Amino acid sequence: MKDYAGADPGFDPDVYRTLLESTLAIPWRIDWATMTFAYIGPQIEPLLGWPRGSWKTIDDWASRIHEEDRQRVVDFCVSQSMAGVDHEADYRALTRDNGYVWIRDVVHVVRDETGKVESLVGFMFDITERKKTEQDLLDMQKRLETLSFEDGLTGASNRRMFDNRLETEWKSACRKGTPLSAILIDLDHFKQFNDRYGHIAGDECLIRVAGALKQAGRRPRDVVARFGGEEFVILLPETDAASALHLAECCRDAIDDLQIPHEGSQCSTLVTASIGVGTTQPAVRTGARDFLAAVDRLLYAAKQQGRNRIVAATV
Ligand code: GH3
Ligand code: MG
Ligand code: MG
Repeated sequence: MKDYAGADPGFDPDVYRTLLESTLAIPWRIDWATMTFAYIGPQIEPLLGWPRGSWKTIDDWASRIHEEDRQRVVDFCVSQSMAGVDHEADYRALTRDNGYVWIRDVVHVVRDETGKVESLVGFMFDITERKKTEQDLLDMQKRLETLSFEDGLTGASNRRMFDNRLETEWKSACRKGTPLSAILIDLDHFKQFNDRYGHIAGDECLIRVAGALKQAGRRPRDVVARFGGEEFVILLPETDAASALHLAECCRDAIDDLQIPHEGSQCSTLVTASIGVGTTQPAVRTGARDFLAAVDRLLYAAKQQGRNRIVAATV
């Protein structure tokens, strides 16, 4: 800076000050020996609310960093400065009115002729807007991820999620030698339900049934998914045949408890389901697909035997 100004006598050093103090970035300088601020731009006051004169020592800076960021940022900046390395850090600076502003502090280490650290100079940038946009994007990404694994109508897991989890749980069960169970649930005479009550009522019925089934598969690794149309599936890792059958009975009771009238049904006056329950000992030589096909045959058997019932087997 000195060199340039020196080379151009027409260039007033005050211009630098004007430039520095009118930009959005806030300049500052810390004297390394005394750890005190030699300078901080006047823009700091409108941004954070702390008067310019209250920035005296490095502790004033540290104490105005959000406590969740403080240790990390202070440790990082001090170690980089001691090593004489230019650096930057993002952190939340506390405002006088108990809020915070996201700051990116860009730091240049100034050394004397012997290489000793003499001072730190830097700029603080207000990156609150950028951080907010980043957070919005992260939130949206999370939401999209959820949507891509969720059935749009019922909010249960969708088929893609189920397929992924089945594959994972199959491998896990192969490794650990644990049993795997699946419950396949198909609403009875649902076509007639739509015919009689309309498609919107049909959708509402599916939503309520999904809600009831979610109560059944409650362990963290259980997956309650819409398998397709009016069919649901519950994947039960590390669950033996007796427990799976018990859960299937709970599902049937839960659907019964909904007491949804179905006058078009030939097997009840209420909405009912036929249920296939399969339990297997996954092995590498067999596949998850064959297992599902076997459970589907059990469901078919339940339909054949008159619907509104459970057929369970170890397959
Ligand atoms: P079964 O007892 O043999 O299972 O008879 P079903 O009528 O339930 O079986 P079928 O496969 O003949 O018909 C399934 C019906 O489910 C037909 C379709 O209109 C209905 N369905 C599938 N998906 C939806 C949906 O998202 N909303 C509504 N309202 N109905 C659906
Ligand atoms: Mg069906
Ligand atoms: Mg059906």
